[in-house]
Amino acid sequence: LPIPNITLNTGTEIPQLGLGVFLVEPGETERLVSEALEAGYRHIDTAMIYRNEAEVGRAIAASGIPREELFITTKLWNTDQDRPAEAFQRSLDLLGLDRVDLYLIHWPLPMFAGSALGAWRGLLDIAESGRSSAVGVSNFEIEHLRQLIDETGVVPAVDQVELHPLHQRRELSAFCAEQGIAVEAWGPLAQGKTNLLELPAVVAAAEAHGKSPAQAVLRWHVQQGRIVFPKTSRRERLLENASIFDFELSGDEMAAIDALEAGTNFGPDPRSYDVR
Ligand code: NAD
Repeated sequence: LPIPNITLNTGTEIPQLGLGVFLVEPGETERLVSEALEAGYRHIDTAMIYRNEAEVGRAIAASGIPREELFITTKLWNTDQDRPAEAFQRSLDLLGLDRVDLYLIHWPLPMFAGSALGAWRGLLDIAESGRSSAVGVSNFEIEHLRQLIDETGVVPAVDQVELHPLHQRRELSAFCAEQGIAVEAWGPLAQGKTNLLELPAVVAAAEAHGKSPAQAVLRWHVQQGRIVFPKTSRRERLLENASIFDFELSGDEMAAIDALEAGTNFGPDPRSYDVR
């Protein structure tokens, strides 16, 4: 599988496509990650709150793939924002690794409702120690990013946000481009919760290239430079979702998918989501 890398603002290379394991049951995660690694995936996106880091770690260990060929992301959960070092060590222990490639603050609000940017400073210490090649954030709006940058002078490597044709986050994407923050799209297929894959713009683009609608949407993402890790628990879809680097959507096909913007999001509003 020829999956290109993107270079983050730290110089770290990240495979543009990986596998996300949100809502993959712990009992199923090891098998799925093993299958993905066998199929050629090298980038896995997990989080403490997904409760499957240990299984991700077991699949990594069993794969025999050299550590430096893998790209592993995990995330700091809201309740741990006041103890990032401890939470990070717990994630490392569960993963059975001595470093990850990317560590993210999962949601902004606990931090911004609280006193300080302690969580971000904690992540910067982790990066400094070499135990995460890069650090970044997730679900941060422009105002959160601005404050983080203003107060610490350090620009996150990525912002992982809900982003798909029905919810394109154009203003945020432009801000990130300006600042050199790579955008990771979570829910790149709108979480399978809509008729996105049946919409004429998507179907027409897919048919024109002999690809599936999911491949057309994923291609639309990567052609704009975003990083994606579509989730699937089906082996045949692992290959399908990663086979998007051998065709190119035309300007008109891209524009037709752009026109699907509907302001429809599925995740909670990052400005008010404050589960602790
Ligand atoms: P997704 O958009 O990847 O949708 C997954 C669903 O799409 C699957 O359950 C399946 O129903 C469908 N699907 C997948 N491949 C398909 C194909 N080839 N054809 C047809 N249907 C297909 O949604 P997601 O899992 O929520 O997002 C991907 C990853 O993003 C997650 O696994 C997780 O790693 C990350 N994520 C992060 C956050 C965050 O707050 N940072 C939130 C949600 C998800």
